[in-house]
Amino acid sequence: MDRLKRFLSDNNVYYNENKKASEFTTFRIGGECFAVYPKDEAELIKTVSFCKEFGIKYIVLGCGSNVLFSDKGYNGAVIMTQSLNAVEVNDGVIKAGCGATLISVCKAALDNGLSGIEFAYGIPGSVGGAVFMNAGAYGGEMKDIVIKVKAYSASDGKIVEFNTEKCGFGYRESVFSGGGYIILSAEMKLTRVEKTEIKAVMDDLLGRRKSKQPLNYPSAGSVFKRYPGRYTGQMIEEAGLKGYTIGGAQVSEKHAGFIINVGGATADDVIKLIDHIKEVIKDREGIDIETEVRVIE
Ligand SMILES: Cc1cc2nc3c(=O)[nH]c(=O)nc-3n(C[C@H](O)[C@H](O)[C@H](O)COP(=O)(O)OP(=O)(O)OC[C@H]3O[C@@H](n4cnc5c(N)ncnc54)[C@H](O)[C@@H]3O)c2cc1C
Repeated sequence: MDRLKRFLSDNNVYYNENKKASEFTTFRIGGECFAVYPKDEAELIKTVSFCKEFGIKYIVLGCGSNVLFSDKGYNGAVIMTQSLNAVEVNDGVIKAGCGATLISVCKAALDNGLSGIEFAYGIPGSVGGAVFMNAGAYGGEMKDIVIKVKAYSASDGKIVEFNTEKCGFGYRESVFSGGGYIILSAEMKLTRVEKTEIKAVMDDLLGRRKSKQPLNYPSAGSVFKRYPGRYTGQMIEEAGLKGYTIGGAQVSEKHAGFIINVGGATADDVIKLIDHIKEVIKDREGIDIETEVRVIE
């Protein structure tokens, strides 16, 4: 990492070599990391291409709301996109930097009387993270609104533009989930609707989240993907696993699809709990459920 430190210092890119993943993930779990904070696209690209050239492991992160970092930390660079947060509204299209929060995009949409992204109000992620996994809720998904994504291809150093089709959106996945691309920005096409209507939908969805989700505990949202035609949370609840606890990790009493950190949970606690849930569901239902949260080691 000394080489990376020299490079970042020479290029005035801010970094913090003693950051704990528990400080920047919504699970509040994870050990020491070398965090890099590019202030714009140029610095982000420079940092990624340097890591690539010198074989330094790296991961680009948005809000850290869909990841579980190891307690041992991460032996590489964790590149944070939070400064790439510009949001521009132009004639029904919102263009947002990868680090813009979904909340800020939703607010811009509301201020401009633009509808279509209400589903994302309350998802605590960034535009980059949401495009990466085609985030969705309450019948809406990123794929319904994204018309263009600008990404950096780490393998050949090119900037590539993807239209909706090329994004390869599927259920909680996209062409970007395979790795290799850094999402720089996305354009979303919305429809003009009365602000009061948009606000009513956002308030309703946020209210539903507050009443159904354990938002007073650290978590990464729903841990498992939905199994075709089945709600995973419901299967977990029917298996009697609500409240099941390993160390500081617990199946939420409020929403069985969530694993919450009730205090001092380690990544190992969460992984053991995930494995236990998978085993129980396999025994009861004969199916393999898949994790949505990404484990970072
Ligand atoms: C309380 C709670 C509720 C949630 N509700 C929902 C929900 O309703 N629906 C839903 O879909 N999700 C939900 N989530 C999960 C999560 O918020 C979303 O998946 C969100 O889109 C992740 O964005 P992020 O910026 O936090 O991604 P991160 O966790 O930072 O990253 C996730 C993955 O995306 C990659 N990534 C991030 N940015 C980039 C980039 N610029 N370029 C390339 N790769 C990138 C990372 O490398 C990582 O692999 C919830 C989470 C919580 C904690």
